[in-house]
Amino acid sequence: MPDFWDKQIQRADYLATESSGSQALLAFYAQLLRAQKEIYESFRSRNDWLPSGDLNNDLLVVQSAMIRLLEVVSRHGPTTLASEAQALLATEPELIAHELLAYWRSPLDTQFFPKAVLQPYARWSAETGTPPVGRDLAGGERTCPFCGGNPQVSFLQAKESSSESGNRDLLCATCLSSWEFRRVVCANCGEERPAQLCYFHSPELDHIRIEACDSCKHYIKGIDLTRLGLAVPLVDEIYAAPLDLWAREHGYKKIELNLVGV
Ligand SMILES: [Zn+2]
Ligand SMILES: [Zn+2]
Repeated sequence: MPDFWDKQIQRADYLATESSGSQALLAFYAQLLRAQKEIYESFRSRNDWLPSGDLNNDLLVVQSAMIRLLEVVSRHGPTTLASEAQALLATEPELIAHELLAYWRSPLDTQFFPKAVLQPYARWSAETGTPPVGRDLAGGERTCPFCGGNPQVSFLQAKESSSESGNRDLLCATCLSSWEFRRVVCANCGEERPAQLCYFHSPELDHIRIEACDSCKHYIKGIDLTRLGLAVPLVDEIYAAPLDLWAREHGYKKIELNLVGV
């Protein structure tokens, strides 16, 4: 099985050369993914260490790995993020610890740095079967059964030969694992009435669509892997940034902003 991070990186590198109006976002995301892979590898290869699930106990390890991310963003990030990264490199570790813990308890998708460094931490926790503790999250079928995170993106894939149109999964914005979800249901409020659910796609991005709900006015993007098996949901979601414009113009709010803030 190809390594999860390599798969995302290769796809981001490839799509960064395509013209979709999101090349700059993807080029930056490819750098971020490389930094996240390094962070993940630093956790994995650490002698006699496994995540405890309680970020309080793992802060030292996470914070020392975070330095790499700050260096990458200060060099390759957009101006505002780059100067934030420089400021954080000079910030007291206690303040950063406080921010990380606040994010872990109650995540906000606008908090770029905690989200970026805790994704590889939560992913390694998920892979080692270490359930997170100390998270103040609602739970329920519309959030990640492992860590309670919001869905970042929805995707369809054929799981069994009998399934013609594919199963729907949601991919977690925190631990990046996925879970099965019903197909014609709003991933934010659970609305099931077809008249309340609307879809939008553009011909240039045939395998990607906006899945919006008129009851709660939220949306998520859906990636159809039965149409394009090469697609990688997390990355293709960013590639389709022009669709977010459409959604915002029509008054819909994204369930969870992606790592590059779209
Ligand atoms: Zn999760
Ligand atoms: Zn809804």
